Amino acid sequence: MGEGEELVVELIDAYRERYHDRAAFLASLATLDGIYVPGQYDVAYGIDGTLEAVAARDAAPRVVVKRRLRSVNAFETIAAVKTPHAEYGHMALLEVGKGCGRGCRFCLEGQVYRPVRHRSVEALRETVARMAASGERRVGLVGACVSDYPWLGELLKVIEENGLELSISSLRADSLTEDLVAALARGGHRTLTMAPEAGTERLRWAVRKPISDAQLMTACDLVRSHGIPNLKTYFMIGQPTETSEDIEAIVDLAGRMLERLRVPDATGRPFGRLTLSISSFVPKPWTPFQWAPFDGAESLQAKLEIIKRGVRRFSNVRVLHENPREAALQALLARGDRRVADFLELAASYGGDWRRALREWPGDAEFYTTRDRPIGERLPWDHFDVGVKKAGLLREWERAQTESTVAVGAR
Ligand code: SF4
Repeated sequence: MGEGEELVVELIDAYRERYHDRAAFLASLATLDGIYVPGQYDVAYGIDGTLEAVAARDAAPRVVVKRRLRSVNAFETIAAVKTPHAEYGHMALLEVGKGCGRGCRFCLEGQVYRPVRHRSVEALRETVARMAASGERRVGLVGACVSDYPWLGELLKVIEENGLELSISSLRADSLTEDLVAALARGGHRTLTMAPEAGTERLRWAVRKPISDAQLMTACDLVRSHGIPNLKTYFMIGQPTETSEDIEAIVDLAGRMLERLRVPDATGRPFGRLTLSISSFVPKPWTPFQWAPFDGAESLQAKLEIIKRGVRRFSNVRVLHENPREAALQALLARGDRRVADFLELAASYGGDWRRALREWPGDAEFYTTRDRPIGERLPWDHFDVGVKKAGLLREWERAQTESTVAVGAR
């Protein structure tokens, strides 16, 4: 549980000593912080199927505490395997830090990697130089929110001094700067990516990602003034408090962004394409939205159709989305308890055909996914301490409901 840089060494040591005796090996792990051995816990369920109790056996900890790396500068986190078959296989990946201080209410990463820890520029400088010396051409910065890295300007200089091109997967529209966009453009970036998450400011505030429409428009202007031809945007449908107005607003926002984007750049080259990448909201453990029900595949599909139909009138717009049934599977895996293991075994026995496994599994997937979870219900992940207090999550969950009804201008 948590960060493995230090723990993995201890784990391997324990394995070396006891690998010949599985039971002894697993028992020895109980004393290591950050290790969860499910077989060392007894679980009881109520007649309604909800969890009633989880009891630790022998030396297993009652609550498993996540492992946290104290000194991020002591470890270098880079992609160890580079392959053209991976999404970012053409670049050297470098982690600039861990955690994110923004606290978006849907975001697992923003909660469980707390506190925020940035690697120093000095620590990263060495790695960048080594990457350049080994013949890399492009470095991709990795982190929960790279545009919040406090010494980004300095790091960009280091990357350019080493003759490397820069890549960043996604940026917050409210922390974009001229320098950053210019560096991305110089580094050959053909697409800038940002994640408004919702079509209306109301919903963005409700999920605690308070990015205004004006900031999105400014981001569009920056993209074009630096000659970047394409913009990719991430939206999430099915979020708590969402209404049909929020769905239609995604189409409307796309139209307004297009108006700002469809201008020639300084060299006269036309705009390329606006991509709307639509994902389905899956409520995650340890987030303020852990009590929210998953929207359901049919409802999500209907919302997707509204968006796809709506943008047909625009040229230069492409909609990408996942299959909402896959999101339903994610919801089952993210929110299930150990009884869902039977489903996994079944899917494995069918060579990974989870659709068939879902049809034949005697469990009730909706019990885990679309059911409203009362605040007092014991959750399958309550015996883990990932560094966020349940009371704090609950406060945020309640705030999301009240803030969703307050007009944005009144905040
Ligand atoms: S969505 Fe992005 S900005 Fe928000 S908490 Fe997660 S990582 Fe941070």
